[in-house]
Amino acid sequence: MSRVAVVGGGVAGAGVATALDGEREVVVFEREGEPGGRTATRRRAGHVYDVGANYHKGGSELLDSLDEGDLIDVEEPVWTFEGDGEIKPGDDRDDHKWTFEDGITILPRRLLERASATVRTGTEVTGLERTGEGEWDVLAGGGRTGPYDAVVLTPPGPASASILEHTSVDSGTDFDPAALAADLESFAYRSIDSFALAYSFPLDRPYYAAVNTDRAHAVGWLAREGEKRGHVPDGRSLLIVQMAPDWSVEHRETPDGRAAELAAGHAAALLDDDRLADPKWAERVSWRHALPDDEGIDANAGEAAGLYVASDATHGEGRIHASLEGGLEIGDRL
Ligand SMILES: Cc1cc2nc3c(=O)[nH]c(=O)nc-3n(C[C@H](O)[C@H](O)[C@H](O)COP(=O)(O)OP(=O)(O)OC[C@H]3O[C@@H](n4cnc5c(N)ncnc54)[C@H](O)[C@@H]3O)c2cc1C
Repeated sequence: MSRVAVVGGGVAGAGVATALDGEREVVVFEREGEPGGRTATRRRAGHVYDVGANYHKGGSELLDSLDEGDLIDVEEPVWTFEGDGEIKPGDDRDDHKWTFEDGITILPRRLLERASATVRTGTEVTGLERTGEGEWDVLAGGGRTGPYDAVVLTPPGPASASILEHTSVDSGTDFDPAALAADLESFAYRSIDSFALAYSFPLDRPYYAAVNTDRAHAVGWLAREGEKRGHVPDGRSLLIVQMAPDWSVEHRETPDGRAAELAAGHAAALLDDDRLADPKWAERVSWRHALPDDEGIDANAGEAAGLYVASDATHGEGRIHASLEGGLEIGDRL
């Protein structure tokens, strides 16, 4: 069976592996210690919380097939607010808000397990080399591994670009990795600072989350993680507060503790509850390339040479379902 190397163990990489299950041997290279990417779930003191994507809105047979009795559909609605901070009933966005008792990261992880892909975590890909036989070697973890018949890049545009900047090709192809790298490098993303703020008291509201609709507030999104079954112990609460892109860029150098204080202050003002300014504990995750802020680009230039791109730089949508479909589609093409 021929072999395919997939760079990135997020939803897109899991989609590629799913489509190739039984057809090709798939090796997934993931830089971090665990797969998941921006579907990122953390655990602390009995709490489970999603610090990247909050939920998947697209129901499908594939999603249903992953249910082991732990699939959750968050029932409370998403309300909205503008620059004045007044939270109002929303526009009924996202009828379904799917996640799992152990967090949204279960989605790509279960897909990867079911697809029997080999996942090499803690292994950063730094470059690629196309050999004279038309096969690919992957430069990863300080060594070289291969050969692979094809390579799929799934990281955000600039991260995929940095791999292509260290890619060499043989004379049998006219594919120019440097040109594709330049397109991917210039693809724009919004940054988001995401805070988990934990409290030792419950917090009731008629909504699960509130989203800023006019981009005129320091907070972009605020969610009550306790609305997800199994995420927050009884009698406690945990807020996920995602700061607006401008705030996130402005506070890039602000130390974590001070940034969390500021975020908690914004949460207290927004929810009109002074107790929220002083969380029991807080955690910050800064996503530099959080959501695409550009039209998707054509990244097919390498396909004749066996180099595919299934990044959100190609579909231009910062959504789980878009990355999953993008990965499945590239897998089908392969
Ligand atoms: C704060 C935040 C909130 C969001 N909220 C939602 C939401 O509620 N609903 C929704 O649908 N979407 C949401 N999204 C968007 C959603 O998370 C993404 O669209 C989706 O997870 C992207 O998946 P991906 O596989 O394309 O990319 P990624 O998840 O970024 O996966 C790429 C993987 O590649 C790895 N990688 C990078 N470079 C290398 C390298 N050199 N070598 C090896 N591995 C490498 C990374 O570690 C990562 O695991 C949110 C995103 C963020 C950041």
